[in-house]
Amino acid sequence: MPTVAAKTFRSARTGNFNESVIREMSRLAVAHGAVNLAQGFPDFAAPVNLKQAAVDAINADHNQYPITWGTKPFRDAIARKYARTYGIEVDPQTEITVCCGATEGMIASLLAICDPGDEVVVFEPFYENYHPDTLLCGATRKLVTLHAPDWMFDPAELRAAFSARTKAIIINTPNNPTGKVFTREELTFIAELCQEFDALAITDEIYEHITFDGEQHIPIMTLPGMRDRTVLINSMSKTFSVTGWRVGWVLASPDLTNTIRKVHDFLTVGAATPLQMAGVMALEQHDAYFQGLSAEYSGRREAAISMLEGAGFRCFNPHGAYYVMTDISAFGAKNDVAFAKYLVENIGVAAVPGSSFYSRPELGANQLRFCFCKKYETLQAAGEKLAKLGRG
Ligand code: GLN
Repeated sequence: MPTVAAKTFRSARTGNFNESVIREMSRLAVAHGAVNLAQGFPDFAAPVNLKQAAVDAINADHNQYPITWGTKPFRDAIARKYARTYGIEVDPQTEITVCCGATEGMIASLLAICDPGDEVVVFEPFYENYHPDTLLCGATRKLVTLHAPDWMFDPAELRAAFSARTKAIIINTPNNPTGKVFTREELTFIAELCQEFDALAITDEIYEHITFDGEQHIPIMTLPGMRDRTVLINSMSKTFSVTGWRVGWVLASPDLTNTIRKVHDFLTVGAATPLQMAGVMALEQHDAYFQGLSAEYSGRREAAISMLEGAGFRCFNPHGAYYVMTDISAFGAKNDVAFAKYLVENIGVAAVPGSSFYSRPELGANQLRFCFCKKYETLQAAGEKLAKLGRG
């Protein structure tokens, strides 16, 4: 018999968030045999030469721990890629941390930067992970609305969200779930606030090469005064269609990198060695590869929007990334969660309930997010199933 009072074996910091709804929808899609337009991962093959490079790396015995912050050839390749694409010079010895996907990059960075009570500004709707990420490091979120249909923010509201306690702002551009691509003007405004309030910009740029309608991705790190004030997070997942590889990186000034590397080391030690070696070849692809992604996904965007509109969804046209936010008011469902459940169980299509991207469920109650990083036949199969809704 215990001689001490019974304990709660669940830390307080885990009490205020649930499991990821995005990942749950993927499991439900499998359970119900539904077409999965929920979790954003391609159902088509990764580039052949990249797969071969990974096989070659394993056969060449690159199978032991990497240097915790990344293999030297991969960090060198990352540095060359940023110099070539954006003219950003980063020192691979002191300014790059390779980690297990952008997901680990974000949580490791926030844990490295934030103390309980610090404030982090987050645009809403937001990518689901940022909520638990801020809670796990004890930070307080200050939310700023992106207003549909164009997902613009009110500069006065953004300014009011900054205070002496602001440690950082999280910027995800191109944006998940809205498809917004932040403009130079918007980023300049944010950069000025970061400098005025002595705050960092933590960016999630994993959709950097997926933009439409002539929009261009701009890393805020390239704006005046932001070089050492930005923590830039990215990964191989979306650019190379390898979301299961879990290879990402964080670029930051040497002081910040030191701290981020410490957290990263004790969280995960390192990302898979052979996959980092394959990443060298990936990042050295010709410019045409990177430029081709936008054209490639632009076609899938058109197919997804015409399929969704045909089924009665009102679409918010995305300018980047590979998701479409939709308005589901026309269907008269109780709410987004009930409708997503109905779709996956009865219609055979999985999507993500809008409320997953908001602080309060009612804000997303009329929205569903669909991803379009899928084969054309997958999008068509989804369209055939959604036609059963009878709204087209
Ligand atoms: N970014 C993907 C999405 O929003 C999911 C990423 C993940 O599940 N780690 O669907």
